[in-house]
Amino acid sequence: MSSLEARLKSTLRDVPDFPKPGILFKDITPVLASAALMGEITDRFAAEWRGKNVDAVVGMESRGFLFGMPLAMALGIPFVPARKPGKLPYHKVSESYALEYGHATLELHTDALAPGQSALVIDDLIATGGTALATARLVEKLGARVVGFGFVIELGFLQGRHVLAGYAVDSIVRY
Ligand code: AMP
Repeated sequence: MSSLEARLKSTLRDVPDFPKPGILFKDITPVLASAALMGEITDRFAAEWRGKNVDAVVGMESRGFLFGMPLAMALGIPFVPARKPGKLPYHKVSESYALEYGHATLELHTDALAPGQSALVIDDLIATGGTALATARLVEKLGARVVGFGFVIELGFLQGRHVLAGYAVDSIVRY
């Protein structure tokens, strides 16, 4: 285990039965409270993706914003927010996807990425992979391509990586 992974594991807070019974929620707020850890996460992602022709970082509302924006700044490229429905003011594309109960939707502005551009998708955590796959579909609706995915936390037992088969997937902490 890398030292960053070990320190993240000792800093993340497990909250049982949130937001509903049976879910062990990985609370990232203690990580956000550490400027040093946030800097190391950004450096770790930047080292992984620098030089791989990434044109923009796409982050999903809302915890993807917290890790995607500093990474985009470190790489010197645009950040693109994938937002929940009704939040983006301009022309947009939408993608709905199934959750354990019900469904969710994410949206991108139509001018967020140009056809042929390459996007890196960043979120705090991959569980089933549904959110990440929906974001890839949004990127692809704009004619852009997904270079890969970066997650701070991977819940490997939920097999989300298999849902993203064919894409490059990088995570820092695995359970
Ligand atoms: P999924 O679409 O199943 O991969 O779920 C990923 C999204 O749900 C991410 O944006 C996470 O922030 C959130 N999420 C799912 N499970 C957890 C968990 N156990 N702890 C914290 N966040 C979670």
